[in-house]
Amino acid sequence: MTPDVHAKPIRRTFFKADLKCYMCGSVAGSIESEQPFTGAAVAPRPVLLRRYGPSQSPVQVQNWRTQRCDRCGGPLFLDEVEEITRRYEDYNWLDERPRRGRPPKRLIEERRRERELLEAEEAAAA
Ligand SMILES: [Zn+2]
Repeated sequence: MTPDVHAKPIRRTFFKADLKCYMCGSVAGSIESEQPFTGAAVAPRPVLLRRYGPSQSPVQVQNWRTQRCDRCGGPLFLDEVEEITRRYEDYNWLDERPRRGRPPKRLIEERRRERELLEAEEAAAA
């Protein structure tokens, strides 16, 4: 009786986009969802919001459109929508929130790596 505790890595596809300010053009953060962001007619779906800046813990928001720019309070729009496939050894991916005090540089690096990974996957599929 040895149950298989080593579950297969889970591959999940996410849609990710930057939240950019209409007024000042700064990127306030990014949102993530397993549903595409397109479809204006549908009711807003909850997404995972990562604010850039000192508090970087992802939070669930019902409607990203209610979010405002940290710098000027302007309305935000979606920029650079990406589709990302990630592999998870465990399901509790919400726990991998960044530690306090990590420099935003790390986030930028993380995003760059994700993009490179995506490009590599696209190149492999072509
Ligand atoms: Zn702004």
